[in-house]
Amino acid sequence: MASRNLVYEVLALRSKETPAGTRVLTMLSAEAGIIDAFVFGGPKSKLRSLATPWGAGRAFLYRDPVRDYLKLSDFAVDRPFSGLRDNLRKLLAASLLGELLIKTSGGGGDFGRVLELSIDCLSGIEGLPEAKTDYPLLLFIWRLVELIGLLPDVESCVFCARGIEASESRCWIPREGGFACVDCRPDEGGGEESPRLSAGAYRWLERSRGLSSLEASAVGLDSRSHGGLRRLCFGLAREAVEGPLESLATGQGIL
Ligand SMILES: [Zn+2]
Repeated sequence: MASRNLVYEVLALRSKETPAGTRVLTMLSAEAGIIDAFVFGGPKSKLRSLATPWGAGRAFLYRDPVRDYLKLSDFAVDRPFSGLRDNLRKLLAASLLGELLIKTSGGGGDFGRVLELSIDCLSGIEGLPEAKTDYPLLLFIWRLVELIGLLPDVESCVFCARGIEASESRCWIPREGGFACVDCRPDEGGGEESPRLSAGAYRWLERSRGLSSLEASAVGLDSRSHGGLRRLCFGLAREAVEGPLESLATGQGIL
């Protein structure tokens, strides 16, 4: 029989109140992916004040065997990420991360790795100046989409199959599920341009392998490369959740 008392490594993503005033905390756990736990206690309880986004640490949980729900008994928060709450842009970036994790069921399987990537992203967002908020977020989206197995082949052209050099730009063609080289890029005839991964943005992503998002974001991108990477990553994020992202709609013009 499964143990009733559990200790999970978690990141708190969302808290909601039930009509009866009980809090439900949604977390990403390394052990079981996305979980919901009830947090009992009045507005002044210490546990309730801890059980808020974006605390990361060990959650002590109790599984009610009869009603089959989880109750949060204690939360040892190592990283409160409280710096995210004081800045709207940073808060929106963290909200997008949370929404992505919840809507992809915690990234599908390797939850320990997804938790690591998420904490790395929030550390970057918290530690960087506001103007650089989206760099760790874009890197996180890229890494998450790659981990889920939804990243299209970046190295070769989806039309002519030739290898695309690091020094070339490439366009993402969602309906083809891949990237087009400069020779095969469709003529857009006044329509909205396909999201472009410039040579600079491609090199930035390559260089960031093995780096924390804070380290990777020390190097910035020119505005065109940055804009292309944003459209690409936000597009990949929408594909991963197979629909719109509320945090992106809310964050329009801010995030
Ligand atoms: Zn081609």
